[in-house]
Amino acid sequence: MALDAAWARAWMAGVGRSMADNRERLIDLDRQIGDGDHGENMDRGFAAVEKALSADDAPDTAAGILKTVARTLMSTVGGAAGPLYGTAFLRASKAAPAGAFSAHDVHDVLAAALGGIQARGKAERGDKTMVDAWIPAVEAAGIQAEAGSSPEEALNAAARAAEEGAAATEPLQARKGRASYLGERSIGHLDPGAVSTSLILAQAAEAARA
Ligand code: ADP
Ligand code: MG
Ligand code: MG
Repeated sequence: MALDAAWARAWMAGVGRSMADNRERLIDLDRQIGDGDHGENMDRGFAAVEKALSADDAPDTAAGILKTVARTLMSTVGGAAGPLYGTAFLRASKAAPAGAFSAHDVHDVLAAALGGIQARGKAERGDKTMVDAWIPAVEAAGIQAEAGSSPEEALNAAARAAEEGAAATEPLQARKGRASYLGERSIGHLDPGAVSTSLILAQAAEAARA
């Protein structure tokens, strides 16, 4: 489908299901190198997003939907991830086009989200955070946009790159967030936030395929 308001809604419905399905997995990952609440935080946040988007006065543009997502996540998720994802969706909403997304818009919106996360959390590539899923996603979308691919293809490439980026956090030592307190003991575990980012972007691509 075109990447428009209906797509943004379908994406968020998909994320709501995915966070419920992956709740235990994300809790388990966060137990290894954090405080074990990431799955609960994300499931609660995106359940609240679903509720906010089903209200009678819910927005009917992609930008408006992304802004509601941002506000809802900021007020319900808490922890490190709440403000980070909240800022990501807020910046994404500001970068969103008035109509349907082009492949360049896909890149620009993902880049804006990443910019918000880094402005807030100061993490760089390799610090073993969600940034390690976002950076390759932005790069992959950029390559597709430059190659003249469709918006759906740009999103697919971004989702695949995020998944690979999340998998690649396993051998890293955390340098940001709670996991960094573990020092070398953070090595050998996936970063929960990088995994939740890859789930979110997988749903963006999935919704586009529908
Ligand atoms: P908390 O650590 O407060 O319990 P969560 O468990 O919900 O919060 O989220 C943890 C995730 O947040 C980490 O796996 C990591 O991906 C992400 N994170 C933490 N600090 C930062 C940061 N400074 N920059 C980017 N991402 C971060
Ligand atoms: Mg946690
Ligand atoms: Mg916590």
